[in-house]
Amino acid sequence: MEHLTLSHPPGLHLFDRLPENFTGIAIDRLDSILPGPSLIRIGGEKGSPLFVSILLHGNETTGFAAMQQLLAGYGAPLYPLPRPLLLLVGNVAAAVRGVRKLDGQTDYNRIWQGERYPEHLLARHVLAEISRANPIAGIDLHNNTGRNPHYGCINRLDHESLSLARRFSKTIVWFTEPHEVLAVALSAICPAVTLECGVSGNATGTSHVENYLRHCLELPDESFFTPPANHHNDLFHTTARILLSEGIRPGFGPCDDDTDACFREDLETLNFERVPGGTELGRYRNGRPPLVVIDNQNRDVTDHYLLFSGNRILTRVPVVPSMFTRDVKVILQDCLGYIMEPYETKQANAAGLHL
Ligand SMILES: [Zn+2]
Repeated sequence: MEHLTLSHPPGLHLFDRLPENFTGIAIDRLDSILPGPSLIRIGGEKGSPLFVSILLHGNETTGFAAMQQLLAGYGAPLYPLPRPLLLLVGNVAAAVRGVRKLDGQTDYNRIWQGERYPEHLLARHVLAEISRANPIAGIDLHNNTGRNPHYGCINRLDHESLSLARRFSKTIVWFTEPHEVLAVALSAICPAVTLECGVSGNATGTSHVENYLRHCLELPDESFFTPPANHHNDLFHTTARILLSEGIRPGFGPCDDDTDACFREDLETLNFERVPGGTELGRYRNGRPPLVVIDNQNRDVTDHYLLFSGNRILTRVPVVPSMFTRDVKVILQDCLGYIMEPYETKQANAAGLHL
């Protein structure tokens, strides 16, 4: 299969058609057909292209499985799709090894602004190609490690973005930080959504995403962004991130000699729930507050949200958390979770939006 590779590592590999075997390849052999991050143009019958991104995080495989099923169903690469598709397959090396990212790599969903790392060059090249393709919409597919509902994230509060998210789930999250994610850069080019598709490897999640993508390929341009729905949506605004303090060793259940912060066993069940002030999130030892809360302006707002009292970690005000996870590696590489606020219908009405 002919393709073009750029010289700077990690170069972007450009394909002008879907590689043979893509729909049947096992993920741990993906590098046998895609040598690295790849942008694949797949022909379609009519309309503007749809941009879809999968595997920015190598262990988040639902998007890949859904794409394989979808493309196989259309008989690609032998037959054209209903609409052209521009497909980004992100961190191939990490996907082959079943990890979010390799040690020493920058997180592929934190490289879409800035110019510090070699991966920033890759991101800039991808964005230039997307701009040139002028897609109708952009969709970035992810999984959570913790227990969360399926939900769509938007970064621009407008009708088109809401429409993309609403088609996937009634639960919608609006966030502006972290701003280095693909969807924030994408939303300067076209309406964009990040879909959080539950945990990896779940067949229900895969078919949900496959159906969503099929709908996006088959809807004509004129009716692509459906008018506001009559039904109610839950829109949340991410206001802060909860991070571990430097050097803190996290765990779940009772504290022992290997852990400094010991979160409650059922922490994940709090995701997307309205958690009252005074709720215990866990306990800590060694006297030092184990968590820091940072708001969208990068200010330390720990004292607004949390209370450390007698070794207990408590919420100080009502919060709606998301992405709480028990995966210690993810907690250390990324964060413990996010704090959201409900975006009320009256706020939306005042902004001219229909939820
Ligand atoms: Zn992800």
